[in-house]
Amino acid sequence: MNKIPENRLIIVSNRLPIVLTRGKKDQWQLKRGTGGLVTALAPVLRDRGGIWIGWPGTAAKHDVEMDKLLASATKDSGYTLKPVMLTAEDRSKYYRGFSNEVLWPLFHDLQSYCNFRPDYLFAYQRVNKKFAQVIAQNSRTDDFIWVHDYHLMGVAKALRDLGSNSRSGFFLHTPFPSLDIFLKLPWRFHILRALLEYDLIGFQTLRDRRNFVQCVRTLVKDTNIFGRGQVLTLRFGNRKLRVGAFPISIDFNEFAKLAKEKEVANRAWYIHEDLPHQKIILGVDRLDYTKGIPEKLKAFRNALSRFPNLQEKVVLIQVLVPSRRGIPKYRDLKTEIERLVGEINGQFTRSGWVPIHYIFRSLERKELLAYYRTAEIALLTPLKDGMNLVAKEYCASNLEENGVLILSEFAGATAQLQKSALLVNPHDIEGMAEAIYQAFRMPQEERRSRMKKLRQSIRKYNIFWWVNCFLQAAIAKRLDNFPVLADYVPIDEITDKIERV
Ligand code: UDP
Repeated sequence: MNKIPENRLIIVSNRLPIVLTRGKKDQWQLKRGTGGLVTALAPVLRDRGGIWIGWPGTAAKHDVEMDKLLASATKDSGYTLKPVMLTAEDRSKYYRGFSNEVLWPLFHDLQSYCNFRPDYLFAYQRVNKKFAQVIAQNSRTDDFIWVHDYHLMGVAKALRDLGSNSRSGFFLHTPFPSLDIFLKLPWRFHILRALLEYDLIGFQTLRDRRNFVQCVRTLVKDTNIFGRGQVLTLRFGNRKLRVGAFPISIDFNEFAKLAKEKEVANRAWYIHEDLPHQKIILGVDRLDYTKGIPEKLKAFRNALSRFPNLQEKVVLIQVLVPSRRGIPKYRDLKTEIERLVGEINGQFTRSGWVPIHYIFRSLERKELLAYYRTAEIALLTPLKDGMNLVAKEYCASNLEENGVLILSEFAGATAQLQKSALLVNPHDIEGMAEAIYQAFRMPQEERRSRMKKLRQSIRKYNIFWWVNCFLQAAIAKRLDNFPVLADYVPIDEITDKIERV
């Protein structure tokens, strides 16, 4: 395996790993990000130095005070933060518009939700260029530029237009759609050609990569694809780039360590103490139409009706994290979910038992971990999801190793976790209800054996493995001995498995 060279790393994402807000006395306040990406990249950035470029999350003007605060935020970490300032129009048309009303629904197979407004594309191009300008001003030719997610697919192209020769990689955190769906995009050639300006493109699963390769083969003339395994080589004209599948993960040890803390254990105990003789089914989702929340609620209702011995024995705790409030589809979805919760609770509630506990807010970490640690069943049923980190976090925090993971076939995490999770098709309400009943009745020995395997896999293929894999693929001279994820199975094989059952 080639050693990763020590040139600097430039991370580029829509948001910086901090949020800046104005305090009461109009002073800047800074909140550090805690996500897995920050945790994983911090050691690499510390070792080789680098810069993180992104929007600081504020509509205010860029000033010297802001720069001072950004400098102080990372002064001991070996890297610096550089802001890209977005205007109200940028946020409305590039972020809410093109990113979240065109690319997000399209990449999750919901093309009927897309709002293909041409002015959204112009804003997207303009903002991608803005990011490229900040990168060009702050980077050197031998730096490696790692761009994240669907908001920024045009950055490499904009950098080349500015005359930059730096090597760059792109990782798509969402799924990549199949050819039939991608073809609906009015700017399909434009987006695809822009992506091909990166030197490495990473996807969450082999299925996403296969969809991308098929789109390239169909839409871009004179392309050749070589190799096999996790990383392929794509050649067109005089350009050569790599495309790979790198399933993102979590900092397993951090979750396991936090879940062990006394405060988490106490909270977990109280959660169950308040629900005597009831098994907890846990749902944790951002409010998003891709997460299959109405389908999950309908399946729970179906399970309570068809298997009456579940009544008063299970409770569904559904955490819904507010998200993208400005987009009408999200507001409608919230109304639909709350109507269903009301209907189901209205139909089944008895003295001392309310079937659905509905929480509409973001939980702080220890509270979330207490739910993860104590819930007997996790019910995660996205219609389509890039990965679904909640599935991995639930397993990592399940220290007693007796929880059951019910997971949608259409989550990216399924490729890795399918052998030991109970898989469901989120469109099949009756099938999901049966899976709930199966999980409820699953013998302890089987639960333990499944959860042990899930945790082993997540511990091994953790977020540090992911960073390392991506960077190795970015710089390795040869790919013959590239590490392959042993229990990572392409979707075709999952389908075979389902049909055999
Ligand atoms: N999460 C959180 N607070 C909550 C619920 C969830 O911070 O109250 C986090 C959770 O720990 C996970 C992320 O939100 O890291 C959700 O990631 P996932 O990949 O499951 O879905 P996404 O929201 O990115 O589509």
